[in-house]
Amino acid sequence: MKQDKSLELFNEAVKYIPGGVNSPVRAFKSVNMSPLFITKGKGSKMWDADGNEFIDYIGSWGPHIFGHNPDFIKTALLEAIENGTSFGAPTEIEIKMAKLITELVDSVEMVRMVNSGTEATMSAIRLARGFTGKNKFIKFEGCYHGHADYFLIKAGSGALTLGVPTSPGVTEANAKDTLVAQYNDLDSVVALTENDDDIAAIIVEPVAGNMGVVPAKKEFLQGLRSLCDEKGIVLIFDEVMSGFRVASGGAQEVYGINADLTTFGKIIGGGLPVGAFGGKKEIMEHLSPNGPVYQAGTLSGNPLAMSAGYAALSYIKNNAEIYNLLEKKAKIIESGFKKNMEHFGRNFAMNRVGSMSALFFTEKEVADFSSAASSDTKLYADYFSNMLERGIYLAPSQFEAMFISTAHSDEDLEKTVEANFDSLKKMLSE
Ligand SMILES: *Cc1c(COP(=O)(O)O)cnc(C)c1O
Repeated sequence: MKQDKSLELFNEAVKYIPGGVNSPVRAFKSVNMSPLFITKGKGSKMWDADGNEFIDYIGSWGPHIFGHNPDFIKTALLEAIENGTSFGAPTEIEIKMAKLITELVDSVEMVRMVNSGTEATMSAIRLARGFTGKNKFIKFEGCYHGHADYFLIKAGSGALTLGVPTSPGVTEANAKDTLVAQYNDLDSVVALTENDDDIAAIIVEPVAGNMGVVPAKKEFLQGLRSLCDEKGIVLIFDEVMSGFRVASGGAQEVYGINADLTTFGKIIGGGLPVGAFGGKKEIMEHLSPNGPVYQAGTLSGNPLAMSAGYAALSYIKNNAEIYNLLEKKAKIIESGFKKNMEHFGRNFAMNRVGSMSALFFTEKEVADFSSAASSDTKLYADYFSNMLERGIYLAPSQFEAMFISTAHSDEDLEKTVEANFDSLKKMLSE
């Protein structure tokens, strides 16, 4: 694979941008490569500066559920831009967007738009604290909730990939109100709440997607729901990744469990920088200007971002069959990969919820952080470069998800299963 132009751009980028990238995992560090510079994406495909073509399974880390640059989002954006890019004043599309979200997600009665998943989660925590008058919250090891200080304690995603799950720069004062429990282990949560009346919230990814993909057990989420009801704790589902991805109503629809507050990002922006948090009216009314909990944003509810997001969510609302389609496509990958592994006498863990999946290079069942962390990350790096060489663009980390879009054709999927076979063959014979 030719990489001259990307290398040249990377050498230039590192002079002006720390690490040459604006988000750490993009640097390909954990797979011992230097990043490819992308010039174009359309449908399931992406092209780099050297003209290499890839079938893309990152989809901008989740947003591109319809593949790259779908015509209906492009049209919505072009129409919006004719009227201006930002006003800092209310616009009608914000109402349409908020209403649509409340229609799609059962537990959401009111919603506030922000500009990223990070903003959504940090605002939800502040609101939960303001609402309950309590200070601490519980998160789970390996879950990622964006990069606000108090979330970077045993965090997943890039923090985990780059070996800094608890980041320098986070003060002790900030860290002391973050309590950490184990995913899919209700007892570890109960133990933290037993003698503590100062817990405002429990925040959880109802399908964990930032330590690879780890589905929650239903009893675990049900247990969290009951515990929160019993103790007056706000249950926050961080659906920045799973929202509109695993079902139009998010993971809470799949599990039949409602959160008090829900955070969104990724798909909600249709490829533009958008986040949102919403939930029970009783809690949301505590937000400024109605209530005392302050939260604001110069570009929040931006008309371009809202147009792209509204186009994406409208498409989802009007085409409920896409989730069956995604399930079918994702099954082709899952069964193909499993068959390949069987051929080589290996039984690596493959987790999947709808169009989110992860192949872990461990033969343990992966149900929490420690089982995910038992994966052989060197083997993953080898797998990543073998797949890339064969035109398949996966996440450059063992601890990220593989996303399938409606744009992935049967031919794409077949080619991917073949590449998986050839890569495993090469890796396992070395
Ligand atoms: C991506 C992600 C975030 C952070 O969103 P950003 O838009 O990157 O700030 C938060 N929570 C979850 C579950 C995510 O997957």
